[in-house]
Amino acid sequence: MSRFQGEEMSLFDKLTKFRDVACELVDGTNINDADEQSRRRSICGGCEFFSTTLRGPRCASCGCPLVPKWKSKSGTCPKDKFDEEVAETETP
Ligand code: SF4
Repeated sequence: MSRFQGEEMSLFDKLTKFRDVACELVDGTNINDADEQSRRRSICGGCEFFSTTLRGPRCASCGCPLVPKWKSKSGTCPKDKFDEEVAETETP
């Protein structure tokens, strides 16, 4: 049985995604502002898939480290919670 629940990304897909996000962070491009990083951190903190490890917070759904997901604009949530929360806050 897998360590992680839900849909599995292949190792190649994970490495490709990690490389892309790491390049963006190193370049300093495509970085979320502090408010968006905080919003994403809060969403993950209340999520059933939030997991803490010795290497930092991880998403138990996809197995990815969370800090790059919070910092990078191209960081995605496998359950689309980042987008859902935006839609909810934009509704009057
Ligand atoms: S990335 Fe999505 S599924 Fe994973 S911990 Fe954050 S909110 Fe939950």
